[in-house]
Amino acid sequence: MENFIYQANPSRVIFGSGTIQKLPEELSRLGLSKPLLLCTPQQTSQAADLEKILGGKVAGTFSRATMHTPVEVTEEALEVLKSTGADSLVAIGGGSTTGLGKALSIRTGLYHICIPTTYAGSEVTPILGETQAGLKKTRSDPKILPGTVIYDVDLTMTLPASLSATSGVNAIAHSVEALYAQNGNPIINLLAQEGVRALAAALPAIVADPSSREARSSALYGAWLCGICLGNAGMSLHHKLCHTLGGTFDLPHAETHTVVLPHALAYNAPKVPRAMKMLADVLPGSDGDAIRGLNLLLDKLGVKRGLKDFGMKEADVDRAAELATSNAYPNPRELEQGPIRELIRRAWAGEHAK
Ligand code: NAD
Repeated sequence: MENFIYQANPSRVIFGSGTIQKLPEELSRLGLSKPLLLCTPQQTSQAADLEKILGGKVAGTFSRATMHTPVEVTEEALEVLKSTGADSLVAIGGGSTTGLGKALSIRTGLYHICIPTTYAGSEVTPILGETQAGLKKTRSDPKILPGTVIYDVDLTMTLPASLSATSGVNAIAHSVEALYAQNGNPIINLLAQEGVRALAAALPAIVADPSSREARSSALYGAWLCGICLGNAGMSLHHKLCHTLGGTFDLPHAETHTVVLPHALAYNAPKVPRAMKMLADVLPGSDGDAIRGLNLLLDKLGVKRGLKDFGMKEADVDRAAELATSNAYPNPRELEQGPIRELIRRAWAGEHAK
């Protein structure tokens, strides 16, 4: 076995069904009594449920969390924080709400309890991406990591089947890139494989029956493990491409990850045979070929396969290729302008990865 360094990110995780009821106990364990609740405008009823569970003992609710964590929204929320004298943050929602919780916590030092309702995985990473004047900047700092994560499968039952599918593939993408990360290690490989195994079985079951609590529970468990991979291993081409495409062409986060993943994996495949084998071993029907397994999974999920389906124009392919290769970053295969352009063109057109 090769030498390696494994650095765990210390978060406390409460997992299960009905676990949201543990929130008052968790706050009192921490000596906190006046949290500001955070959510999106679409999830105010879940925030209202939290307020009831806390017997109304909250500083208030800020319900304008927005995708890609715009700094203007964070500043608005900071004003609310100050005026209410909140002593902690409780974020309930997907990656967008978690992002706001992280942005507030790093600015104020307040304890952040995160209650995720998608499979994005941000709740277990020390990473924060913020947008200002149309530019998304990402930073990593141990202080960004939420202190407590409460996974309650009951809260994910309302996640529409289509978003469950793409959000789950977003999670799988974290594990895929962890399997060939420069700073990868055997512990992360175990988590990555188990995360993909759980999601690859659960997602088609959710699409077939969105009310299946067992499938939802497995998906949430898988998403947690994949999130740990994202927080521990360096990401490469796939995440950089999605970041560029999402930020520059305003494409939806989870859907973009879903379209790009097989193409980015096919690009890197010749340089990462070990990762391809580990992935093929946990993707049903792959027959030893991870790309085949991934394509099969996406077909079963019935997800959209082309970036053009989300409004990207063919004329943007050149600009996307330029941006994706303009900054050097670690990737198992050298970034070659021509093949990267062809990768993006195939993803744009919705062709199968080769
Ligand atoms: P999201 O948080 O934007 O949620 C998408 C929509 O679904 C929102 O309207 C939300 O209110 C709704 N929703 C969420 N959960 C629901 C539920 N259970 N039932 C019904 N509706 C629900 O989407 P996301 O994909 O979770 O997060 C995307 C954002 O997270 C992006 O900004 C991305 O950059 C960021 N992200 C960051 C990290 C990190 O480590 N920093 C990791 C992954 C994603």
